[in-house]
Formats: sequence, C-alpha cells, structure tokens
Amino acid sequence: PTLFSHLPRYGGDPILALMDAFSRDPRPDKVSLGIGLYFDEQGRLPVLSSVRQAQEALLRNGGPAPYLPMEGSASYRQAVQELVFGAQHPAVLDGRIATMQSVGGSGALRAGADLLRTQLGCTQVVVPDPTWDNHFALFEGAGYQVGGYPYYDTATAGIAFDAMRRFLATLPARTVVLLHASCHNPTGMDLDAAQWRELAGLFAERNLIPFVDMAYQGFGDGADEDAASIRLLADAGLEFLVANSFSKNFSLYGERAGGLSVVCRDAAAAEAVLGQLKVTVRRSYSTPPAHGAALVGAVLQSPELRALWLQELTTMRQRMRDMRQALHAALVARCGQAHDFGYLLAQRGMFSYTGLSPDQVRRLRERHAVYLVDTGRLCISGLTSAAIDHVADAIAAVLE
Ligand code: PMP
Repeated sequence: PTLFSHLPRYGGDPILALMDAFSRDPRPDKVSLGIGLYFDEQGRLPVLSSVRQAQEALLRNGGPAPYLPMEGSASYRQAVQELVFGAQHPAVLDGRIATMQSVGGSGALRAGADLLRTQLGCTQVVVPDPTWDNHFALFEGAGYQVGGYPYYDTATAGIAFDAMRRFLATLPARTVVLLHASCHNPTGMDLDAAQWRELAGLFAERNLIPFVDMAYQGFGDGADEDAASIRLLADAGLEFLVANSFSKNFSLYGERAGGLSVVCRDAAAAEAVLGQLKVTVRRSYSTPPAHGAALVGAVLQSPELRALWLQELTTMRQRMRDMRQALHAALVARCGQAHDFGYLLAQRGMFSYTGLSPDQVRRLRERHAVYLVDTGRLCISGLTSAAIDHVADAIAAVLE
C-alpha cells in the first residue's frame, strides 16, 4: 500500500474548468463571461499606469528582499486603513482598528475566521444566499459550520430584506455574519444605506459579529461610496471585521495584496487583536509576500499616483456601466417588452445575475459560444463593444 494512492480525486473548480473549456473552444466569436476578472475594452487584463509607475520606481531603487513583519508592511497597513475607513474616520484617528496585510482578500477572510475561532470560540457563520462559493470553503476550512441567510429574491430580482432581517434576528449571539460591502458577488444587488442602518442596530442588539468582505472597492459607485457600508457600521460603534482585496481594483490578482481590519472598542483592544493576528500568521505562512503590497502602498501614498489610480478606477467603473447600458439597450431592441432587463442597470459592479437557467446557460455555451457560470452569473467586464451584438443575439435566442 502507498500513502496517497487512495486519495479522492479533486473535482476542480467549476469556474476554472469553464475557463479551460473556453480556451479550447475554436469558435472565433466566443465570449468569456464566466470568470470574475476585470478586462479592458480590448479584452485584456489591464496593467494600470499608476501601478506600472510604482513598479518602475521600485525596480530603479532595487534593494534586497528582507522578510516583512508578520502583520505586513506598516505603511501599507496604514494606507489600507485610510482607504477602507477614510483617513479622517474617528476609529482610524483613535487607533481602534487593527489592520494586517493579508494574502489577498481570501487570506484576510481566513485570518479573520481563525482569529474569531481561536480567540472567541466562534464556530457558526452565515453567508448570503447566494454568495461567492469560496466563502463556504474558507470558513469550513477554518472549522466553521456555514449557513445561508436569505438575500436575493429571484422572483423580484431584488433583495429579500424582510426575510433577511427576520432570519438574522433568530441567530445566537456571536454568530459571524458575512456581508458584502458592495458589488455583491454573484448578484450585483447591494443593500441601501437605510438597510445597513437597520442591520447595524440588529447586530448590536443581538451581539452578532459582522464580517464585511470588500473585493470590489470602487467598481460600484466610487472608492469612498463603496465603503460607505463599512463606515456606517464603524459610526454605529460596532466591533467588526473587514476583509479587503486589491486583486480587482489594482488588477494585481497574482500579487495577493489584501488587508484584514478589525474594528475594536479602543486602542488597547486593537493592539491585542493585532498581536493575535500575528500569531495566526506565524503559524500558517509566517510572513506575507512583499511585492504586491509594495506596489499598492506606493500608489496609495503618492498623491500623484493615487490620483492617477482613482482616475483609472473611474475608467474601469465607467466601462462596466457602459457595457451594462449597451447590453440592456441591445436586449430591449431584440426582445422589446417580452422580458425585463432592468436588472442589468440596477445591479452594481462586475457581475450581473441574469436569471437564466442552467439549461439556457448551456445553450448559450453550446450553440453560441457565450460562456456564463451555471448560476446565470454574467461577468460584465468580459463584455466589449465588439461583442455586445453577438451576446445579445445569443441571449435573445435562448430566451425564445
Ligand atoms: N470575496 C469576494 C466576494 C470575491 O469575489 C473574491 C474574489 N473573487 C474574493 C473575496 C477574494 O479575492 P482575492 O482574489 O484577493 O483572494
């Protein structure tokens, strides 16, 4: 007998499998709307000018590659905090937030889950139904039971807020509640300010622990606007966690740059939290990767590069809005009033939840070489002006 030959085969990630099928597809008019990456109007992953300039300066300065501290680069951590909460937020000024550099948004979710598990004994988390699939794996891997709370209402293509609120009110104290800050993946439907305010009250009253995931800051309405939900929870005096990612908004996927911020009651508690986060890091990967954080930190700390990045972020956001409008117009032109495509305009960020069935998604792929995720999630940034007519023809055909 050998040690490993009996191991079950890994089924693979369905979205990555879809990508593989796409790249093998010989049809010239194929369109990839599956994976959640931001592509530019030419269909390429962009290299942002702000990032390129930071990169060039970094190369010019050369230098060795020492270990970073367990919690990551101090200047980067500061920059993360200011971008997420706003430089003038009282929680930032009071030193009440413990922020560590994380291995992307995923690493932040895992580190936060570990902290809550080991230090507070949390074992229950609820995530929106539906949510990013990896939320299940990340929390289960950290020893949690993962449940769903009502979020998206298929019938109205809106938020099932009443059901959500009623469900959350039944949870035991110290249940972790995973929330998307904005640009919800996969539905593109976000809570409004009044709903966040109501939830803030509920979290306080029921002693629930909000854990906000922000993977698309700036892709919805703007960098500050998309973080408004987080700032509202901080204003309400709650203690909570935020995982943020720079994979999409800096187009730095493989660099694994993110942050975990824990908002505490006072600076002493934040210091204790940071210490325990170091423990969490030390016993898994020891210290974080340096390069991506150096790039993001350099951009955020330079007034010129920061301004340039904000412009580039606006360009990306605007392009996604333009694609929403173009696809909406093209579908209305083909289908008239037979179907309501208003969801394309109501949803925010990189994804649109089309309501197409798995069978319709299959027909899109097989007959028209248009690739969506089985759930009907369409990645808006996979669209280009050149592809709109083909995609609209295909969707109109499968809706008939
Ligand atoms: N949260 C959500 C909602 C996401 O969509 C993603 C990325 N797909 C992440 C977290 C993780 O981001 P990262 O690649 O930086 O780990």
